[in-house]
Amino acid sequence: MQSWIKIDQHSDFSIYNLPFGVFSESDHIKRIGVAIGDQVLDLYAAFELGIFKDVDFDVKVLESDSLNDFIALGKSTTVKVRELIQAELCTANSVLKSHPSVFIKQSSVQMHLPVKVGDYTDFYSSIEHATNIGTMFRDPDNALLPNWKHLPVGYHGRASSIIVSGENVYRPKGQVVLDPNAPPSFQASTRVDFELEMGFIIGKSTKLGDSVSTETAEEYIFGKILFNDWSARDIQKWEYVPLGPFLAKSFASSMSPWVVTLEALEPFKISGPTQQPAVLPYLSFEGSKNYDIQLEVSIQPKNCQETVVSQSNFKYMYWNMNQQLAHHTVNGCNLNVGDLMASGTISGKRSDSYGSMLELSWAGSKPVELTEGGTRKFIEDNDTVIMRGHCQKGAIRVGFGAVKSTLLKAK
Ligand code: CA
Repeated sequence: MQSWIKIDQHSDFSIYNLPFGVFSESDHIKRIGVAIGDQVLDLYAAFELGIFKDVDFDVKVLESDSLNDFIALGKSTTVKVRELIQAELCTANSVLKSHPSVFIKQSSVQMHLPVKVGDYTDFYSSIEHATNIGTMFRDPDNALLPNWKHLPVGYHGRASSIIVSGENVYRPKGQVVLDPNAPPSFQASTRVDFELEMGFIIGKSTKLGDSVSTETAEEYIFGKILFNDWSARDIQKWEYVPLGPFLAKSFASSMSPWVVTLEALEPFKISGPTQQPAVLPYLSFEGSKNYDIQLEVSIQPKNCQETVVSQSNFKYMYWNMNQQLAHHTVNGCNLNVGDLMASGTISGKRSDSYGSMLELSWAGSKPVELTEGGTRKFIEDNDTVIMRGHCQKGAIRVGFGAVKSTLLKAK
């Protein structure tokens, strides 16, 4: 495929990608756009030029503050829209080429949260991450709890505090235990951490009582984003027993602005780790359901260069998205368009592929060195955490851009 648009070969937003997002210019009117190279294609303006005339939908869904109504049109429409855009961008006499104003530089737009997230679920599906945490806090010989290899462990998170890349996060305050023999203190967390995750956006609703099988799960997934699930380890340690994470997680999670469709990721499917013991029939699946997505995390202190502190890959996930969705709905819990399911921290086997500072600094015992001097055990005030991800196969690159947020001093 060759586009008439000039696209850098290292761009995440190649002709093979075409992710969807919500943007605005100086008039602040939010519209749906598609990223191509370093530009945004304004889909509302493209609609007015008639490129979607063979697809039946209301232009109103393209002048919206979220992708929800567009996604709700269903894959029969959204896949067609993406294919029409791809065809126009490869056709030398396209009407888009003679109307350059439908393209806007990414550097001159503001990106917004791409979806209105109704419900947010966070899984815990990396065996390396779960093993590291179990080793650190429980028993190195029995790091995984008895349920871990039988079901994709998860919890219901907080949707109201999900923010888009570029928005910043205040250091949270809460109860922490400084001395195990004394009552807890109330203070700003001193162990703020990132969690390298990816999330998927639900593209099709289900009715209460219905379940989604591993076989049909992909019909229900619109696309994927990068996700930093900010965590306060000291608050978490005290509060999480017996019901799991609460205020240690709910203060913020950051999301990348471009939703990469499952169709764009199809060429990067790969088989996942062997699951032993065998899973129950409702969690079994056929074919390759993992994805080869290279991930990295950088820390950038104020006025300093970035240091890459972790290089991981989404392919390491023990539980795949199909299994997560089958498990999530097996009890009849319904899904809504725009719901977000996050993977859980994505760690690899090597110590430089761990997806959190808790693991990288091994609970603070091994500080991580920064390129311009200094070290980090956890995230400090005014540090910016940047996560990036992309797939590469030969000359074909499909990427996610970045999710970037700065940790601000406690309010
Ligand atoms: Ca998490």
